[in-house]
Amino acid sequence: MAARKPARPRWWPGPLGETQEQRRDRAVKILRALKKTYPDAHVPLNYSTPLQLMVATILSAQCTDKRVNEVTEPLFKKYKKAADWAGVDQKTLEEEIHSAGFFHNKAKAIRATSAELVESYGGRVPDTLEELTALRGIGRKTANVILAHAYDKQGIIVDTHFIRISRRLGLTNELDPVKIEFATMRFLPERYWSDFSLWMTWHGRFICPARKPTCGECPVRKLCPAAESTGKVTWRVKTPPKPQRRRPA
Ligand code: SF4
Repeated sequence: MAARKPARPRWWPGPLGETQEQRRDRAVKILRALKKTYPDAHVPLNYSTPLQLMVATILSAQCTDKRVNEVTEPLFKKYKKAADWAGVDQKTLEEEIHSAGFFHNKAKAIRATSAELVESYGGRVPDTLEELTALRGIGRKTANVILAHAYDKQGIIVDTHFIRISRRLGLTNELDPVKIEFATMRFLPERYWSDFSLWMTWHGRFICPARKPTCGECPVRKLCPAAESTGKVTWRVKTPPKPQRRRPA
C-alpha cells in the first residue's frame, strides 16, 4: 500500500476571513508601516562575527541585551576563535558569564557548540538552517538569528514579541513557535522574512508590549483586528486547553 502523504495544514482564514493572497497583501502593508516607524531598527546585541553573534544569542536567553553586551565586551577580546570557547574550563566560563543568568547551562551550550564547530566545521559557524539546528545548543530561533544577521540570509525569527503580535494581528492562531514560523512562510514572501522579524520585535518593545499595547499610536491599527479590543485576542485559538475531566468519586 502506498504511503500516505502528510496532510497540508488547513488554511486559517482568521478573524478577517482572509484568503492567502489577502493575508499576504496585509502582511506586506504591515511590514512597510513598521519599517517606516522603526527606520533605525537593528539587532541590539554587539557582535562582529557569526561566532560572536552565536555566543551573544545563547547568552541572551532570559537576559537583557544591555547585560549581554556588558558580559561579552571583555570576553570577545579574550576568546576569538571557536577553539578558544571550546577550550575554556566550565567553571571559569560560568564565572565570566554569571551575571547573564542560567550561567551553568549557557556555559555548557557555548562550550559544546564551539567544540562541535571545531570538530565538524574547522571552527566556522555554518550558514544553513539544517547545519545550524543540528548543533547542540542551537535551536531554530538562534539559527535564524545567525542566518539573518550574520549571513544576510532570510529567516523568520519567532521570539515572544513575534508570537504575541502575529496573533494580535490575526496573522496566525498558532501558539507553537515552529508552527508560527511555518504558518508565516505560507503567506509572507521569503525576501521579507528577516526584515519582518526585526520590525515585529521592535514593535513589541515600543508600541505593542504584552501589557497595555498603545493601539492609539500604532501605525498598523487599521490593519489589526485586535485594535478595537486593545490587543485582546478575541477569536478562537488553535489549541485551546483540554477540558479537565473530573474523576468520579
Ligand atoms: S493595534 Fe494594538 S494590538 Fe494591534 S498591533 Fe497595534 S498596538 Fe498591537
